[in-house]
Amino acid sequence: MATLTSPVSISLENEKNPWAAAAARFDEAAMRLNLDDGMCKILRTPAREITVHIPVQLDDGRIEVFTGYRVQHSVARGPGKGGIRFAPDVSLDEVRALASWMTWKCAVVNIPFGGAKGGIICDPNVLSTAELEKITRRYTAEIIDYIGPERDVPAPDVNTNEQTMAWIMDTYSMHSRHTVTAVVTGKPMALGGSRGRPEATGRGCMMVTKKALTLLGMQPETSRVVIQGFGNVGGMAAKLMSAAGFRIVAIVEYDGAVYNPHGLDIAALQRHRKETGSITGFAGGEDMDRAEAMFLECDVLIPAATENVIHSGNADRIRCKILCEGANGPTTPLADEVLAEKKVFVIPDILANAGGVTVSYFEWVQDRQGFFWNEATVNERLKEIMDESFDAIVEYAGKHGVNNRTAAYMVALDRVAFAIKLRGIYA
Ligand code: GLU
Repeated sequence: MATLTSPVSISLENEKNPWAAAAARFDEAAMRLNLDDGMCKILRTPAREITVHIPVQLDDGRIEVFTGYRVQHSVARGPGKGGIRFAPDVSLDEVRALASWMTWKCAVVNIPFGGAKGGIICDPNVLSTAELEKITRRYTAEIIDYIGPERDVPAPDVNTNEQTMAWIMDTYSMHSRHTVTAVVTGKPMALGGSRGRPEATGRGCMMVTKKALTLLGMQPETSRVVIQGFGNVGGMAAKLMSAAGFRIVAIVEYDGAVYNPHGLDIAALQRHRKETGSITGFAGGEDMDRAEAMFLECDVLIPAATENVIHSGNADRIRCKILCEGANGPTTPLADEVLAEKKVFVIPDILANAGGVTVSYFEWVQDRQGFFWNEATVNERLKEIMDESFDAIVEYAGKHGVNNRTAAYMVALDRVAFAIKLRGIYA
């Protein structure tokens, strides 16, 4: 079991504990940076952890109590920032890890936020919209003193969406007695959302993948891409990449996988899923065992669903040249070692999926200015940040003889540590 302040070594037992994984990556970077002990203690410990138990009356009249978390890992560089997820297996250790990854992610792309994350233990598949609204509003009311445009700005994550953000914004605004759009990002356009935000994480993945291809002397048109996940991140990456000429040869979902070596028609697959509720049985490809699809030989693999999908038990079967981590924490530290031996070019999560939070930052800026940008401006500014961050991490990795992940952590830790040094410790 990982402790909050002491170094962690990863074994088969704790390999899939995200907090242990986050701590191990942190330790590696901190050691290489020669960070002093005190700074390590500050950076590795979440600044604030809130647990709430939310009573909600369900549609059938029963009362259920749900447990929710909001962890603010760091607010040294600005307000906390990060999504809220709804899932049955949410745990405090997971939310802690995700919150710390937000700190490092925001620092990698150099936007003025700290890192935070929230989660509620619930199964959205068995809850009605009315029940989800009640859970969301009561959760918001419980954490209301700790969020706000200057404090901590939630956003969508696994199983939450624009509607969830609209409820949070409304609840917060009712308590404030005026409309506060900048309290959350990933809102509907009609409520102060940003153009390009729904596409941003997938678009960012495409941008860094293109950079990696160029670096390795490859072309999008001849690159075979496998994407695991067909939701907000994977679905959007698939759509944008196929429109940009990439060959998406397989999509892997929780209920099946579909394969076409000549490239899937992603728009048609999306229509098929809308009509049938599943990607399986698609006429433009063949169904494939979902457990096997991730191991297809390909140029780019984009895990864009959940944590720990590439681990010590399967990493040796991965056959991609570039791994672009659309999800948070899809690769365990033990798998990292195997991928390094196989010379896979890894674009680590805290860089690869940072497009989402980058456009969240743009949304927050636009809300506060009350002045909204057109989509071309959003995408142009996103590209500038993703391209520059990619170049900076790859250059740092080369200069210091470390892999891309360690380089990203080192750059991030250094930036956050510098901010803390400048601020000093308030006592
Ligand atoms: N949930 C997304 C992430 O993990 C977005 C967070 C945000 O926009 O604040 O990066």
